[in-house]
Parts: sequence; C-alpha cells; structure tokens
Amino acid sequence: MKVAVFSTKPYDRQFLETANASAQDIHQLSFFEARLDVATAPLAAGFPAVCVFVNDNLDAPTLKILADQGTQLIALRCTGFNNVDMQAAKDLGLKIVRVTAYSPYSVAEFALGMLLNLNRKIHRAYNRTREGNFALEGLLGFDLHGRTIGVIGTGKIGLIFANLMTAFGCQVIAYDPYPNPEFTKNPLCSYVPLGELFAKADVISLHCPLSPETRYIINAQAIEQMKPGVILINTSRGALIDTGAVITGLKSKTIGALGLDVYEQEAELFFEDLSNEIIQDDTFKRLLTFHNVLVTGHQAFFTEEALGEIAATTIANITNFATNQPLTNQVS
Ligand code: NAD
Repeated sequence: MKVAVFSTKPYDRQFLETANASAQDIHQLSFFEARLDVATAPLAAGFPAVCVFVNDNLDAPTLKILADQGTQLIALRCTGFNNVDMQAAKDLGLKIVRVTAYSPYSVAEFALGMLLNLNRKIHRAYNRTREGNFALEGLLGFDLHGRTIGVIGTGKIGLIFANLMTAFGCQVIAYDPYPNPEFTKNPLCSYVPLGELFAKADVISLHCPLSPETRYIINAQAIEQMKPGVILINTSRGALIDTGAVITGLKSKTIGALGLDVYEQEAELFFEDLSNEIIQDDTFKRLLTFHNVLVTGHQAFFTEEALGEIAATTIANITNFATNQPLTNQVS
C-alpha cells in the first residue's frame, strides 16, 4: 500500500524502513518532513494511507481534504489521538489506527529521571561545575524514601511509574476513575479521591490521557490544594496543565519544581531546531526563566525499544488494513 508519512525525522525513516523490510517491503513509504495540516494535506493526494505523529493536525478540514483525495486509513504512530477530530473521521468514513502500546518503560523511566533531576538539582549542578562553581547553596533536595507520590492515571505508564517509586520506599496514592487491579496489588499503592491526592502528595506525576475531562486537571483550584513545594511532573499531554496557573504557582512557591516533557502549545515548537529563531511564545519563555523548571521537547518515548515497537505496530496496522484483516488497533 502507498503510505504518505508526515512529520518525518531521520529516526522515523530508519525505524519504519527497517520494520517494512522485515515485512518484505510490503508497503511503498513516501516520507515528508512537513507536519500534516490543511496546507500540507495535498501532499497526500493518491495515497490510500497516511501516517502521522502527535503534533500533526487532523482537524475536520484536513480530514476532508484527505478523504476527498482518496485516503482511507490514518495510521497514528503514537498512543494518544487527541489531535484527531474523531467525529469528522467517522463521518468521512476514515479508519484511524494507532499504536496502543509500546515500551511504557520509556515514559515511566523518563518521568522518574525528571523527578530525580529536579529534586536534587542535577540540571543546575551540571551547569555550575562546568563553570568551576562547586558551591552547594541552592542544590538542597529531599530523600524520596518515605515521601508520598501522587499518580494521576494508573494505566500502562502510571502503573510502572508507581512501582518504580515504591522501590524508593515511597507511598503511592493515585486517582483514576477506572481503577487498575494491578495497581493495588502493591501494598504501598492505594487509590484516593483527587482532592486528597492534591492535598497529600509531595510529588504529582500525570499519566492520564488528554480528554475533555482531563483538560486543565491541573488548574488554579487544584494548585491551591497542593502542599507547598510540591514537585509536578507532566510527561503525558501539555493541556492537562493550565500553564498560566502553574506559573502563578511557581511564583508563589506552592509548586517547588516543575518537569515538563509536553506543553500545550508544543506543536509550534517541539521536534524542530529553533535555535536560530526568536521564540514568540512568551508563556513558554517565562517557564524557561525558572531555575526549578525543566523542559524537554517530548522525548520521553524516545528509546530504541519504543521506536522499534512503534514502527513494527504501525506497519502491521497498515498491513491489516491492506489485506482486509481485523483492525485490532482501530480507534473508535
Ligand atoms: P493508558 O491508556 O494505559 O492509561 C491511561 C490511564 O488514565 C487509564 O488507567 C485511564 O483509566 C486513566 N484515566 C482516564 N481518564 C482519567 C481521568 N479523568 N483522571 C485520571 N485518570 C484517568 O495510557 P498510557 O500508555 O499509560 O499513556 C498515558 C498517557 O501518556 C497517554 O495518554 C499519552 O498522552 C502520554 N504519553 C506520552 C509520551 C511522551 O513521549 N511524553 C509517550 C506515550 C504516551
């Protein structure tokens, strides 16, 4: 099947070509660097399948262009599908498939890395020692042992993150409207209402999907309930956090440190080298001024294992469609 791959980086090409070669080069992959949106959708003319990533914009007008041009399948090479207008896709008869699972360790381990880094100020120490500054003032952290970790969303990633934290001797309290029986098998893990999580947690890590219910789950009202000095980690989706409210929380010191691998307006920024540009997003630039804020550009998934699994599942999803087999990873 002819596949138009959007938002292609060299690593996407490498892993997708390897996965396709393992499947006897069943598909003809055409790689486009452009992000998919209304302006770039014409590139997919004549391609029955389109392959996209997290920041491609699959809104109704873009989907309409794709459908009119003959596209039938959208293969997301990610888990989240918040960037797809699902109603429009359904109305247009477009099938959407995704990668329901790939190394959840990649994201859980990265969230832990952000926490260790922020708590012990390793990002600051790295800069200091390179300039010959070996003073410890400002680098004070706390033992994680004995602390309470709040996890919002206990699916594949949240569960692994919770178990990692218990290995440090932490208590883990979680909120999830759909409890995972695996989570409470660990005696150090328990579910609590969201308000109790906000009030008791020394660290809060977000592992729920972005949906109308979870948009701005971290807002001014939530921050008001939090312990002073709480460390907040978001490796899930940017819009789980009201960035303006979090900046206010950082200024009041209610939020003691913030780790972000995702940002609400990241589509304009992430995955590109903008080091020669003037960044216009003042909110984002304000975040970068805090010494206790660590921002990375949506890299939590970026391990060899995860990229290999994403590529293999994406190729298998397209093959299932091309050969009229059941679409086990269809988003409905
Ligand atoms: P998952 O579907 O296995 O788990 C999500 C969990 O969130 C489920 O247990 C679900 O019940 C829970 N949930 C749903 N609504 C909720 C709510 N209102 N409040 C609290 N919990 C709620 O997903 P996963 O594989 O663990 O991934 C979690 C998220 O991580 C994804 O949705 C995605 O946004 C993000 N992610 C980020 C990266 C990255 O590179 N930064 C990579 C992969 C996934």
